[in-house]
Amino acid sequence: MSNEQLDQLRVKLDDVNLEILDLINNRAELVQQIGQVKEKQGANRFDPVRERDMLNLISKHNSGPFENSTIIHLFKEIFKAGLELQEDDHSKALLVSRKKKPEDTVIEINGEKFGDGNQHFIMGPCAVESYEQVSQVAAAIKRHGLKLLRGGAFKPRTSPYDFQGLGFEGLKILKRVADEYDLAVVSEIVNPADIEKAVEYVDVIQIGARNMQNFELLKAAGEVNKPVLLKRGMSATIAEFINAAEYIISKGNGNIILCERGIRTYEKATRNTLDITAVPILKQETHLPVMVDVTHSTGRRDLLLPAAKAALAIGADGVMAEVHPDPAVALSDSAQQMDIDTFDTFMKELLKK
Ligand code: PEP
Ligand code: MN
Repeated sequence: MSNEQLDQLRVKLDDVNLEILDLINNRAELVQQIGQVKEKQGANRFDPVRERDMLNLISKHNSGPFENSTIIHLFKEIFKAGLELQEDDHSKALLVSRKKKPEDTVIEINGEKFGDGNQHFIMGPCAVESYEQVSQVAAAIKRHGLKLLRGGAFKPRTSPYDFQGLGFEGLKILKRVADEYDLAVVSEIVNPADIEKAVEYVDVIQIGARNMQNFELLKAAGEVNKPVLLKRGMSATIAEFINAAEYIISKGNGNIILCERGIRTYEKATRNTLDITAVPILKQETHLPVMVDVTHSTGRRDLLLPAAKAALAIGADGVMAEVHPDPAVALSDSAQQMDIDTFDTFMKELLKK
């Protein structure tokens, strides 16, 4: 074949491409019109029976050289693009997304405004063990002018034989101490049936990493009027994390703080791998406040301060860390909790200008 012939065929091919372009755009306009009619009727946009009929008609008229399977594949892509055109971007955006709500969500807890651009701190023991234990930590928190006390009463432990927490007794201790020191309580709830009762004792419902995709728990937390601190699952992608928050907001509760707490990787030097860039990604993609738990992400006392500095530097709204009067005898996470002296130094160093 001469070059001249090749050029002629290419010109023809370009013409056909442009014809196809016109045709698929004509088709798109028709699809949009159909979408408007369906919208008025309140009918579903996707109609599998109609799609099957269209494919049957196309296959019947197909005289090759493409096989029917190829033609069907191509047309299904065209159908799909048409359907996407009918759904406008706005209705597709998640309720937690910045596309839906460009301004930051600010959540007020005990005078602290999470998401207002300032830095906030949630400190306290891994688990509530006794009144004295929580009280000593609360006194230290108060000395630093902080407002939020954490402590686990329901502990989701890897082994069923490990300390499981004091349950509602633990929540009562937290509430009593918090009232004495004018602090707000952040505590994990693991059972959807406990939420209603727990809101009498906690100011923030924590949903832990192991429960990030416990959809019944997420929905139950979405039905109450209490801020929720949602932790990232240990093997959850950012998209899964965002969707977990969507479960909560979709039930009406938009007061959600996202907490990056490290993800599981092959690295063994730290307990988890702190995904630090999750912070700006979550801030860009959602309007929710984002914080970093430096205790569970690192699992190492020597890394708490540098990890906290990194979190604040990269734009986190807050930092969570665990503090225990005597970590050596703590009933959980004894290797990474700070004692009170270490906590004092940690806060001073972290806030040093
Ligand atoms: C906790 O913060 O008490 C806790 C158990 O953390 P995570 O759910 O992130 O493991
Ligand atoms: Mn812990």
